[in-house]
Amino acid sequence: LRCRPLSVEEQKANVQSAVSCNDTKREVTVLNSLFKQADKTFTFDTVFGPKSQQRAIYDHAVAPIVDDVLEGYNCTVFAFGQTGTGKTYTMEGEMMQQVGELPTSAGVMPRAVRHIFDILEAQKADYSMKVTFLELYNEEITDLLASEDQSRFLEDRHKRPTLSLMEDGKGGSVIRGLEEIVVYSPGEIYSLLQHGSTRRRTADTALNMQSSRSHSVFSIYIHVKVTTTGNRELIKCGRLNLVDLAGSESIARSGAKEVRAREAGELNKSLLTLGRVITALVEDSVHVPYRDSKLTRLLRESLGGKAKTCIIATVTPSVHCLEETLVTLDYAYRAK
Ligand code: ADP
Ligand code: MG
Repeated sequence: LRCRPLSVEEQKANVQSAVSCNDTKREVTVLNSLFKQADKTFTFDTVFGPKSQQRAIYDHAVAPIVDDVLEGYNCTVFAFGQTGTGKTYTMEGEMMQQVGELPTSAGVMPRAVRHIFDILEAQKADYSMKVTFLELYNEEITDLLASEDQSRFLEDRHKRPTLSLMEDGKGGSVIRGLEEIVVYSPGEIYSLLQHGSTRRRTADTALNMQSSRSHSVFSIYIHVKVTTTGNRELIKCGRLNLVDLAGSESIARSGAKEVRAREAGELNKSLLTLGRVITALVEDSVHVPYRDSKLTRLLRESLGGKAKTCIIATVTPSVHCLEETLVTLDYAYRAK
């Protein structure tokens, strides 16, 4: 659980903080007492208070998962929370413009890329790597890395080409036409990330979206060749998905006008289904409803089976968002 600091504007406006974090006790408390109600405390695996740095989030919550990817696991990191609470800041942060020192505000994505290459280079590993970056908006998939000729309409989400999701016959799914870009260096990935995330933002602005209703999924596929003591060669195939989810407020949003209502409904579907899938996995249910949304279909192999998952729930301390914050905490707590 990560709670962002109050922004400079909020501080200037004397916005009260209604969330208190105890990083050592791993507790976060919502101060309902401001409204003469009982405070509510939640415990999480890790609590990152407002002073937490990007690096701490990466080192504690994400780095262990990335180590597993190189051992052949499918892993996913989600950022989940209300719009404006720091999902994109946590996942992207300051993007790398070029190869060099990671800026202190670099997020999970550039840090994971750097970490993966550091390990592979230290091991002098024989590997291959490819990346994809897609957006899921209104249950439709678009390629954030599509070459220019295909992406002419990307600014207009209602016109742009969408990709279909097919079953691969092995329990997973494939996205027809999604570009898989083979990469050899961190620098290449940084520029692809930059490119894709700019596209996502441009599309947001064109639609005049105040809040982000799209999910983005950045995936790195890594094949590492290893030689066993018996001198046999085997290939470890790992996949890392870094997912910046749509604003959690869309779960509760209703009553909006036609298109918006449909969008809200559809998003509702992916976020709600994700919650249900995670609950079913946590409870070891026989039926896991992967098929009920695109997001869970495309991440299926990385959610169940030989997979590890981390959800970073983000909240704001602002007293004005108290209700949304409780929704986020409840959802995240149930997903534990
Ligand atoms: P979201 O993606 O959840 O809608 P953003 O990542 O865009 O939210 O964050 C909203 C604003 O708050 C941005 O200006 C971002 O830079 C800032 N912000 C978010 N989290 C932090 C943080 N932990 N420290 C400093 N600034 C933050
Ligand atoms: Mg965002």
